[in-house]
This record gives sequence, structure tokens and C-alpha cells, in this order.
Amino acid sequence: MAASIKQYYQKFYKGSKKSCLGIIKDKLETGESCFVITANPEILMMGKRFPEMDQALTGKDTLLVPDGIGVIKGGAQLGVSFKERIPGVEICEELFAYADDNQKSLYLFGAGREVVEALVSRIRREYGGIVLKGYSDGYVSDKDEVFREIMSLEPDIVMVALGTPQQELLIQKHFAGVNKGVYIGVGGSFDVLSGLKQRAPSFFIRHNIEWLYRITKEPKRLKRFWDSNIRFLFELRKEKHGSGKAV
Ligand code: UDP
Repeated sequence: MAASIKQYYQKFYKGSKKSCLGIIKDKLETGESCFVITANPEILMMGKRFPEMDQALTGKDTLLVPDGIGVIKGGAQLGVSFKERIPGVEICEELFAYADDNQKSLYLFGAGREVVEALVSRIRREYGGIVLKGYSDGYVSDKDEVFREIMSLEPDIVMVALGTPQQELLIQKHFAGVNKGVYIGVGGSFDVLSGLKQRAPSFFIRHNIEWLYRITKEPKRLKRFWDSNIRFLFELRKEKHGSGKAV
């Protein structure tokens, strides 16, 4: 049976972005494998629908970080507080800098070919210390095959940008066979990191309304956002008032 939202909240990393990065860097130094999930309410609700997502969210090697403001607001309703939001795109930028300074290896999997190639060019230009073990766009016919290749290459960092839940389900499917490396699902981050798409202006980021900016740019996101966030609020209320599964 799937964990409750409260149980996912117990699992969340609640400290600062800096200390969260410290944990990831430690994993990179020890070579331990780690599965980073940058979660929003939609991912948590998927844990209730897909057993594999539930396993991913609760796995012992999972580092669950609060990407969306909805996660932080939801936590406040349950009496759980977070130091700050930790957006996946910022983790990526920090990891590029760390990999550059420490000659760590990287594999990029996902997004359109033009996007991933633009990101590869940026990395080669700006982060010469990164050992780029390989890359693939996210529209290949056999994603499992790409994943098996990635595992055989054993990169230190693997960024998977296929969108939710595809990226988390794919990592979860193969993770038991991973010997080393930090695997992170990063959604649409390659579009931004490549420079081909703008992140929200800083006003939206500072006021935690980056989601609103994304909806104004891509109105088709509204239904998805609405559905998952409303269902999340209902679920939280249910658990808060005791009709959900106990922690
Ligand atoms: N994508 C992909 N392969 C697919 C479907 C999507 O590589 O089969 C990429 C897409 O090009 C985009 C990212 O996955 O770069 C999804 O971005 P989105 O912002 O929708 O992610 P989410 O909101 O789920 O985090």
C-alpha cells in the first residue's frame, strides 16, 4: 500500500539548498549511489497512483527535495517546515560548477535533440573540467537501452530530463542495478540550462510564483497544475483530519 502524504513529508529534506548540495557532494565523493527527486505536489500525488513512484519516493537511497512551493505550503498545513525551496534547475547549475572544479563525469539524457546539443555546447564552453561521458535526447524509441548504456558508463552524475513521472519511473526501474552515481530527474531544466528557454524573471522566483509564469507561457499546463494541486489539497485535508493513513 502507498505511503501517506505525511510519510512523504517525513522523508523530505528540510534544510537549506547549501546543505542539501553538501549531501549530494558527499555522495559524489564516496561514490555511493543516490536518487534525487525534485518534488512538487504532482509527484507526491503520483506516489498514490503508481506503486513504482511510491517506491521511488520512499526508497532508502532517495533524497527527496522540495522543488515546488506547493510542497512547502502543504507542509505548513501539516506542521512541517522547510528552510527553503530547492529548485531542480538550481541543483543542476551547482552540480555543473562542482563537477567542473572536481573533474566529475556527467551524462545528460532528455529533451529535444537541439536542446540537449545546445546544453552540451554550453558545458564544453563554460565547464571544461566536466568529463562528459555522453548524452542522448529524450525522444529515442528505446529509453531502457539508453539507460543501460548510462549504467555501464558509470558517470558520477546523471541528469534525466524526460518530465514527470516518466523520468522518476525510468530511474526507479533501473536503480537497483546502479553501482554508483547521483541520478536526478530534472523535468524541463535542460530547456532553460541550454539557454533556449528563459527561466521566470527573478520577481516570480523571489515571490515563489514561478509556476504562475510557466502557466502564462504554456497555458496547457493549467489543467495539469489545477488537477494535481487541488487533489493534493483534498488529500492533505483528509490526512490532517485523521481519515488518511496514520504516520
Ligand atoms: N521530454 C523528453 N522525452 C519525452 C517527453 C518529454 O525528452 O518523451 C522532455 C521535454 O522535451 C522537456 C521535458 O522532457 O524538455 C519535460 O519538461 P516539463 O517542463 O514538462 O517537465 P515537468 O513539468 O514534468 O517537470
